Amino acid sequence: METPDKELFDKVVKISQSRGFVFNASSIYGGLRSSYDYGPLGALLKQNISNLWWKSIKNADTNIYPVDTAIIQSSDVWKSSGHLEEFTDPMVECKKCNKRFRSDSEEITECCDNQELTEPKQFNLMFETYSGPVKNENSQVFLRPETAQGIFINFENVLRTMRAKIPFGIANIGKSFRNEITPGQFIFRTREFEQMEIEFFCKESEEDQWMDYWIKKRMEWYQSLGIKEDHLQLREHEENELAHYAKKTVDIEYLYPWGWGELEGIANRGSYDLLSHQENSGKDLTYFDSVNDEKYIPSAIEPAGGLTRTLFALLLSVYDEEKLENDETRTLFRFIFELAPIQIGILPLSKKDDLIEICNDINKILSEDYRTEVDITQSIGKRYRRQDEIGTPYCITVDFESLEDNSVTIRDRDTMKQERISIDKLSEYFEKL
Ligand code: ATP
Repeated sequence: METPDKELFDKVVKISQSRGFVFNASSIYGGLRSSYDYGPLGALLKQNISNLWWKSIKNADTNIYPVDTAIIQSSDVWKSSGHLEEFTDPMVECKKCNKRFRSDSEEITECCDNQELTEPKQFNLMFETYSGPVKNENSQVFLRPETAQGIFINFENVLRTMRAKIPFGIANIGKSFRNEITPGQFIFRTREFEQMEIEFFCKESEEDQWMDYWIKKRMEWYQSLGIKEDHLQLREHEENELAHYAKKTVDIEYLYPWGWGELEGIANRGSYDLLSHQENSGKDLTYFDSVNDEKYIPSAIEPAGGLTRTLFALLLSVYDEEKLENDETRTLFRFIFELAPIQIGILPLSKKDDLIEICNDINKILSEDYRTEVDITQSIGKRYRRQDEIGTPYCITVDFESLEDNSVTIRDRDTMKQERISIDKLSEYFEKL
């Protein structure tokens, strides 16, 4: 097993920012702590991860229904789910420098020399705002701290409209907000982030079986993205760290440059949420099993992952450096083909119009099926370096011979091997991959 690599963090953050994956939010005004914008390549990568998530959860053995629920819900939702009371972190304040920290934060030790900490106080992480023009207790609303509640409150809607049969799942993806006391480590912990969550509804007697199913499936998914196997591990929560709703939780952890940390939590929430929403809303949220003639509140197994955190773990995991024969070092993101923001770079050897014209023609054909980019800026060597650095798996180079023989060179990012191929065989070449 490899050990954490602190230098890696700085390198990945630097490339992310210089190549257009992630920018500091409000950067022209000096930035806003813990807020990030995703640039052209980051936005594409996020979309690609999310597409693979949807693709992987919908398959023959499980019935998964997608929903896309509101960020602002009735405050009653958060009362019933327990978030108003329980969604807190312990916060301490240094009486000398007045800085505030989550009580388990490593940053406390760096705070000040004459540190004197207050007793921990519980701080609620939900962002508050007001709906409508009047600001009072009745108009107070919260930005959702998880996408999961949007699923529970739509359980009956989905059941009825889709005629769903247990076991089945409902999946929701989107932004969540937590007023983290100590955000940090780039996009690992931010106050605004994206989650990918499933509630998988099953019989109480089948909870353990589905819990095992989802742990295995989700672990396999991270590996299928190209995240290194020896950088992933499972860790079961101790009794005293379980969230207020959970019977059991197993985290999928990643070995970040500072050590192991959560990537996804898979929790057995039992019937906690549906029961609580039924009690507080007065709506019947039971499931009727017509075959066995029984009525019950199902249990929920919840694989809850972070889309933005996965993007970060992926960048860390596929980052690589390679010494070249001329003693230069090339850096690369070894994205799998489906994830690469740009899948095929199309490069004219020089800026001559007739070469660019061929590149544009090739681009017209390939861009229908692939994410392509015609790259004409700077020398060919620098362009290869840039394409490696942004993780483009293949580059097509159009040179002067192409004008004669209608062929181009395909360069493989990982092996750097070059292959000559006729332009009219290009589509077939990529189809076969
Ligand atoms: P942590 O212990 O890191 O605070 P958590 O246990 O509170 O996380 P969950 O409530 O289980 O997190 O949320 C599910 C997933 O959402 C996490 O595994 C993570 O990937 C993501 N996530 C949670 N909080 C944040 C955040 N502040 N920034 C980015 N991603 C987050």
